[in-house]
Amino acid sequence: MSDLKNLRDLTLPELEELAVKLDEPISRAQQLFSRLYRPLPNSFCQMHNISKKFLAKLNEVSFIGEMKLQQKEMSRDGTTKYAFILTDGNIIESVLIPSNGRNTLCISSQSGCAMGCKFCLTSTMGFKRNLQPSEIVGQVLFIANELKSNKNNYINNIVFMGMGEPLANYDNTLKAINILQDEKGLGFSDRKITVSTCGITPKIMELAKISGVNIAISLHAVDEETRTEIMPINKKYPLQDLLSCCSELSANQQRQILIEYILFKGINDSEADATKLAEALEGFNCKINLIPYNEHPALPYQQSTPEVASKFMDILCKAGHLTIIRHSRGSDISAACGQLASKEK
Ligand code: SF4
Repeated sequence: MSDLKNLRDLTLPELEELAVKLDEPISRAQQLFSRLYRPLPNSFCQMHNISKKFLAKLNEVSFIGEMKLQQKEMSRDGTTKYAFILTDGNIIESVLIPSNGRNTLCISSQSGCAMGCKFCLTSTMGFKRNLQPSEIVGQVLFIANELKSNKNNYINNIVFMGMGEPLANYDNTLKAINILQDEKGLGFSDRKITVSTCGITPKIMELAKISGVNIAISLHAVDEETRTEIMPINKKYPLQDLLSCCSELSANQQRQILIEYILFKGINDSEADATKLAEALEGFNCKINLIPYNEHPALPYQQSTPEVASKFMDILCKAGHLTIIRHSRGSDISAACGQLASKEK
């Protein structure tokens, strides 16, 4: 294994540290950092405006990693799924969802996932490995460059809702967010980035203390037993603690939390469940996304009927909760929520 550093794994302060080690002024690192996130600087020789002496020193200790596209599929509804092959052969997927003239990019934070949610196709892959910051940011960079060159278009929002649990790859997720937000990097503001978690309670609080990005909680059930059945992580981080954490976030941090609730037929979609959910979230500053389940032959769950979903939403709305039903995009190419899984296992 090479000791060379991938420069796209480094935040700006880390790159500045490297410049100092190489006996170069910090300003060179700042110049280089902004070049790394502009189109096409995939080798040192393409960086015409950076000092040749600095580039020669960097060439000894580092390289500029780039993402390799394996496959791209487009759905009937315009959603595009990108599969990237990593240097070790693992595959990750990202999904670009255009809607009303805006583009949302759903990115992966791990290859596979260890959380074992019973309804999710990614969990059937098992856990392969954590992504490096460059592999997380690389998905955004690749697709942003493609959009810019094809249609002079850009990414409006980034959601960490692809493969993996971002808070189980906490340090690299944080570094990636740092690079995505740095004005010399990709310049995404807090409100343009959403980190979605299955409920790793201590890390949610840690993230909320140091970052203003949006936080989405995959709740999916309002009693411990059902949640543990469909999301085994609930044994380690119980629902009650997760709800207390959400309450603290909305009270102390004055954040609007996004609550995600997939409707599974006969499991969590009764009127009693809706009432319980409304009560559990009473007083929270939150928005509830109800998500019709995307069925898959390999998984045992079924989608609730539209009538049941609509009744469920009515109950939440009547209780004063801002609620929408989020319709799935890209299900014909297995790009919808919970459908990401590499075909090579
Ligand atoms: S739903 Fe998210 S956390 Fe759960 S197994 Fe799938 S990718 Fe992992």
